[in-house]
Amino acid sequence: MNDVTDPGIAAARSDVLARIAAAANSAGRDPASVALVAVSKTQPDDRIEAMLATGQRVFGENRVQEAEARWEMRRAGFSDLELRLIGPLQSNKAREAVALFDVIETLDRAKLAGALADASAKAGRAPRLYVQVNTGEEDQKAGVAPQEADAFIAAMRREYGFAIEGLMCIPPAEEPPGPHFALLAKIAARNGLAKLSMGMSADYEIAVLFGATSVRVGSALFGARM
Ligand SMILES: *Cc1c(COP(=O)(O)O)cnc(C)c1O
Repeated sequence: MNDVTDPGIAAARSDVLARIAAAANSAGRDPASVALVAVSKTQPDDRIEAMLATGQRVFGENRVQEAEARWEMRRAGFSDLELRLIGPLQSNKAREAVALFDVIETLDRAKLAGALADASAKAGRAPRLYVQVNTGEEDQKAGVAPQEADAFIAAMRREYGFAIEGLMCIPPAEEPPGPHFALLAKIAARNGLAKLSMGMSADYEIAVLFGATSVRVGSALFGARM
């Protein structure tokens, strides 16, 4: 086997994990309660191999076909790999998404819920589900509006029997993220949801202070995207 160890990538991961732990400790939280999701979209094979060599096992991808190409063969070698879809999902890709992903974080429409329920029943495999909330109510961004979130979560449970695991958000790029993270945490708490996917390279430490249970980090781990 080739030596795929990359000191740069290993050091970057150690640094991110240390920052997560420091933020968790300062918030009085157990660092082990925050999962690091390595966002591997667009990264070349050598960086993926180097990241796997560090022991990292949870990865995030935002496109189904790109993720299939990157992970379909590779995942056979790792029984403990966890793949998370963090980008928008079209209903007509539900079958492929259910086959590949362990977690889908971008549930935000009844039509998609129906397609995921059908695909899960056929595949005999049900990914864990997060509801995406468009906390900034941005037109171009996916997710349910904050004021519709309670009804949407209730409908997912009632009509599809989904055990929603948590909520996910992507705050507006030009605003301080704290209020968006706080809003997501509030919506989760009143709906009895324990998991919060929030925080990216620029703001994952803030997200941990606001209760993130998983942070989605790409460029701070891998370097700039290709
Ligand atoms: C690309 C992406 C990330 C990672 O972004 P970085 O700024 O590189 O850490 C996180 N979440 C989502 C939804 C993304 O699409």
